[in-house]
Amino acid sequence: MSSNPNLLGRLVNRLVPSRIASRMASEDPIPVEEVAEREQKGENGRRLDPETRARRDDALAHILKIGDPILRSRALPVEHFDAQLQLEVQRMERIMDDALGIGLAATQVGVLSRLLVYRVEEDGPLGVLANPVIEWSSPETDVGEEGCLSIPGVLVDVERPAAIRVRGQDQYGNSISLEVSELEARVIQHEIDHLDGVLILDRTSREQRKQAMKVLREADAAARRPD
Ligand SMILES: [Zn+2]
Repeated sequence: MSSNPNLLGRLVNRLVPSRIASRMASEDPIPVEEVAEREQKGENGRRLDPETRARRDDALAHILKIGDPILRSRALPVEHFDAQLQLEVQRMERIMDDALGIGLAATQVGVLSRLLVYRVEEDGPLGVLANPVIEWSSPETDVGEEGCLSIPGVLVDVERPAAIRVRGQDQYGNSISLEVSELEARVIQHEIDHLDGVLILDRTSREQRKQAMKVLREADAAARRPD
């Protein structure tokens, strides 16, 4: 990503070092993608206005959460670049935007197609990739904190190649080849992982994975507890 290097720097300053437990203790943990979105909107607080929050909750209800076996499945190639696919892209764009996310894989909305959408900058163009293949990865890697709309309340450090070249197709079947770095490279790699049934918990340290599982168990228990 060339356009906004400062954003990632600001995020890193804000979020590192990660402390999953302390973030979970706050009332509304926010995946890194959402923080990114909010930074761009110039909102410093963690509170959303009621309408935005309601839209976000509604969008999140359409996103599969960890534990769903579909998230562990390998998605199948997109073969038909038809009106149905274009509608699916529109639906995913809406869910991603409403959820205040910056990337979404079809797997996350229960569609086992190799399709992902992303938008790393508010007002930036929507990125669409069908059948993405990473053709080249830089030997240099970055460690960055990642959240996932399918794993609410969890942020973990993930090491990934700092730059990649990826080829695929857009929603009309046109060939695309992209060379991207920084946040854009990270988001695309995160979403391609989803298409292979891989989650950020598989890509972090054992210690952080253990912490994350504990947070998830506690959140689950809290949700089951009657008020
Ligand atoms: Zn994710």
